[in-house]
Amino acid sequence: LLQLAAPLNYLGMMYREIKQAFTNMERLFGLLDEKLDVQDSPGAVPLATRRAHVRFNDVHFAYDPRREILKGVDFEIRPGQTVAVVGHSGSGKSTLARLLYRFYDPDGGGISIDGHDLRDLTQGSVRAAIATVPQDTVLFNDTIYYNILYGRPDATREEVEAAAQAAHIHSYIMAMPDRYETEVGERGLKLSGGEKQRVAIARALLKNPAIMIFDEATSALDSRSEKAIQAELERIAEGRTTLVIAHRLSTVMNADRILVMDAGRIVEQGTHEDLVASLGHYAQLWQLQLQAADEAAA
Ligand code: ADP
Ligand code: MG
Repeated sequence: LLQLAAPLNYLGMMYREIKQAFTNMERLFGLLDEKLDVQDSPGAVPLATRRAHVRFNDVHFAYDPRREILKGVDFEIRPGQTVAVVGHSGSGKSTLARLLYRFYDPDGGGISIDGHDLRDLTQGSVRAAIATVPQDTVLFNDTIYYNILYGRPDATREEVEAAAQAAHIHSYIMAMPDRYETEVGERGLKLSGGEKQRVAIARALLKNPAIMIFDEATSALDSRSEKAIQAELERIAEGRTTLVIAHRLSTVMNADRILVMDAGRIVEQGTHEDLVASLGHYAQLWQLQLQAADEAAA
């Protein structure tokens, strides 16, 4: 019996490894399925927009059919306008951005750009029209040049440097010994939160899209970097259709319209002044943040 124990043990180990391998494969196929979800429909046409009028029309969405995340969301962003979305964490704000970028399709209702439902447009053309500045920018283990070029791989050297200049990171790059060839990321130079966001802004500017999404783009920054980056973001949003997701209300005050999300629904909307005056949900959040700022300053 003892003689059998070792091979059995070995078989047991093999079994677990094989099972693990299959689980990983299932996961992999699961991911592929998700991608297949949003394949181009047979008659899909490329989006030919420079206006970019975005509409969410009674959008329902669930990651898991047992739990609806968006419960009928309706709003529009007129060409060149900035719409901000605020609300508690988990209320569905980033999900709006993911649907607009077409990582997923809605389960009910629809999203359109210039009157074309996203499902009738080629995914590539939709994604080419949108740039995102996320909360936490991922840098590749590569040169800073490559990290900016990623915004539009066919850009020229001059265009990359112009984007870096506009994002106020060019002179910082030029001050490093290897300049644009400096390696960044896990194995290279570690950039600060503010520097990483400037790389993200340079990428977005290089892409020069009709539609911008900022998803809590300044929330990882200290308040001094936040103010500086905030000014950049407002400048690059000018003249573009922009969706700003934020939890600090100071960053959304200037939006053309603010949507307040709660548990998958828009519960209030208006300008900052409208919403403060209406003494609702937003006004309460605003009071809380003013108090917190006062306490921090005291
Ligand atoms: P917010 O940006 O407002 O914090 P999200 O839109 O990211 O909220 O998420 C809304 C809800 O959807 C949360 O409850 C979150 O846990 C859930 N959720 C987000 N992404 C996924 C996902 N990939 N799979 C399942 N649930 C998710
Ligand atoms: Mg979010």
